[in-house]
Amino acid sequence: MYAQVIVDIAHSQVDKIFEYSCPDNIVAGSRVKVPFGGRVIEGFVINVSETCSIPLERVKPIKEVFEELPALVPECFYLFERISLRFRVPKATALRLFLPTEMRLGKVRELYKKFVTLSGTQPELSKSAKKQAEILEFLKNGECEYTLLCNRFGRSPVTSLEEKGAFNIEKRRINRNPFSECGHEDSAKTLTLMQRDAVERIENSEKCVQLIHGVTGSGKTEIYLNLIARAIARGKTAIFLVPEISLTPQMLLQLRARFGGEAAILHSGLSAGEKFDEWWRLRSGEAKIAIGARSAVFAPLENLGVIIIDEEHDSSYVSETAPRYSTIEIAKMRADYNGCKLVLGSATPSVESYIEASEGRYNLITLTERINKKPLPEIIIADMKREVKRGNNTAFSLALREELEKTLADGNQAIIFLNRRGYAQTVICRDCGYVAKCVNCDVSLTFHSEENCLKCHYCGAKYRMLTACPECGGLHIRYGGTGTQRVVSDLNALFPSAKIIRMDNDTVSGKGGHYKIIKKFAAHEADILVGTQMIAKGHDFPSVTLVGILDADMSLHFSDYRSGERTFQLITQVAGRSGRAGEKGNVVLQTYCPENYILRYAVNYDYAGFFQNELQVRKATQFPPYSLICRVMVTSEDDKTALETLKNVYFAIEELKKNYGQEFIFMNKMHSPVKKIQGKHRYQVLMRLKSCALLEKIYVIAENNTSTGCFVYVEENPSNLS
Ligand code: ADP
Ligand code: ZN
Repeated sequence: MYAQVIVDIAHSQVDKIFEYSCPDNIVAGSRVKVPFGGRVIEGFVINVSETCSIPLERVKPIKEVFEELPALVPECFYLFERISLRFRVPKATALRLFLPTEMRLGKVRELYKKFVTLSGTQPELSKSAKKQAEILEFLKNGECEYTLLCNRFGRSPVTSLEEKGAFNIEKRRINRNPFSECGHEDSAKTLTLMQRDAVERIENSEKCVQLIHGVTGSGKTEIYLNLIARAIARGKTAIFLVPEISLTPQMLLQLRARFGGEAAILHSGLSAGEKFDEWWRLRSGEAKIAIGARSAVFAPLENLGVIIIDEEHDSSYVSETAPRYSTIEIAKMRADYNGCKLVLGSATPSVESYIEASEGRYNLITLTERINKKPLPEIIIADMKREVKRGNNTAFSLALREELEKTLADGNQAIIFLNRRGYAQTVICRDCGYVAKCVNCDVSLTFHSEENCLKCHYCGAKYRMLTACPECGGLHIRYGGTGTQRVVSDLNALFPSAKIIRMDNDTVSGKGGHYKIIKKFAAHEADILVGTQMIAKGHDFPSVTLVGILDADMSLHFSDYRSGERTFQLITQVAGRSGRAGEKGNVVLQTYCPENYILRYAVNYDYAGFFQNELQVRKATQFPPYSLICRVMVTSEDDKTALETLKNVYFAIEELKKNYGQEFIFMNKMHSPVKKIQGKHRYQVLMRLKSCALLEKIYVIAENNTSTGCFVYVEENPSNLS
């Protein structure tokens, strides 16, 4: 037999299929070791056949097969070529997406443990061998794991008994269970009429993609769980995707309680071993539901019955590093292959998805009310310009301070949102205007009060805090731009008896970091939670009746066509944390531009108005989806090389423009807004194109200009233009 193999080298020069001879029992999907160019490397068998297209004397045999059960599911063979073509990556890169990284690199294996029981042989023990006698007595109660036995009685009596043949030892595969500490309070609810109607309409729809547009607190989660349960009941499997950060402990508890061991959880907080075991539980069919962030869209499940993407508008679903794939597009490919539904849900669908729905390509399900008709929180706008005029230079408006007082007096909880971590965003010398910057990146440094240091948020570098200006020696150092640490210390001063906790990238470390903070706040062990983006969505804290949004306009001023959309989404999501249970909730939204129309729509929860307006703006200005933004990035450690390459890239695209001028709406070449990141100089050619007709050619230009010292890549509608 002959196997067609893709070698695990992500390079365009070996991006083809190689043939090897193999034993009869090898099946497609197996991971193998093959001889290749004088080395032995890993590869994937994508097909097995009785014939071979190269001269037999040149065919080499496969060296080794890794697992008995092939790691790749058959669907991969259908998907990987489409992914490789669509997202312009080598076939090996596309295949890698379907495997946990740790497994590919051979860093983790199955975990086996030895279990000891008494054998029929009762050895003669000398009087002094007290420990050994204790062990024999102990084992009369039943089996014990080998290492536990050693820990309890010491290694040497255990080995002595083992040598005397007193034990039967059995080696068994163990699953590392990442959530054994989770409780089991199941809370399956009777669906409301609206929820039942939504489930029915989704199941009976003829369209593949379903978009649930439901206000915050409308009970979308229960709809998802119901759809999953129905798929499982039909003997199928399911994928449930959530944005990484809103993979909330509450949601995990709920899923574990509802589906027990049938659910497997894949996310970046797991150890390599845990991820590996959860992955195999899915592959082997023991678990049928994959839950996780974007990479779980590649879960090794066969026979999918439904794919769900919660918070579908979230930018974490688009991979910003290579391979730059769109999770929704991959999910569509899988839904298409399996003939199952893809369900997208959000309180603030992305403009792209909503257009699909409003033009009839997706089935739209709208939920306009919260569960039990609870009112949406009232959003009060606080005009910060007026506050400054009144002489208030703190981060808190009068309205917010009053509401906080009331909330605390009533024994309720509050959430304060600010999308800036650290203490102060910039450190400036008042005498000469010097701003502290990172040497590797062209960005200002953030002051972190807890560690008393300056940090670069792009590369993580740490610097000593300034005592004097390195430029002029001046001693008047000023902190600009309040961050979360500063907000906490200011709140502590304002409300000395309130308990305040913070959640941002600096406080959330390790596997349980996130969980601990949420658990503490949910148990009302703190009164105020201060945090970044992380606290914006997904969480359900019943006693939160006040949400303060400190810098609602910050995202409005990003030079990104989606900044209006982002701001609308953020406000709606954060506001949605308020008043979810008993009492009515309030929201104070602080802004320097209270007349801004995006804020107006958000305050009135007017998604339809926002959408219509946004569509008109984008049509008039020819922005996506009425055009395609294409950015060719040129990065190199050597500034000259980067600039040289940029010129070549620009020249090649100019040539293209001569022939296809009508496709171009806009084009220029320049430094990227952040000129340097992690020591790499960054330049770009930015284009707005009428369609994707020229993309293929642009990708080729990028590939042709990439060299060892200089990386050139293409971004389509990038969500981050820094
Ligand atoms: P969303 O995801 O739409 O923001 P959730 O799914 O978090 O909303 O639901 C909001 C709240 O309503 C949650 O506390 C949830 O437990 C509760 N809930 C959902 N469905 C029901 C139901 N059928 N009966 C009672 N309570 C429900
Ligand atoms: Zn840096």
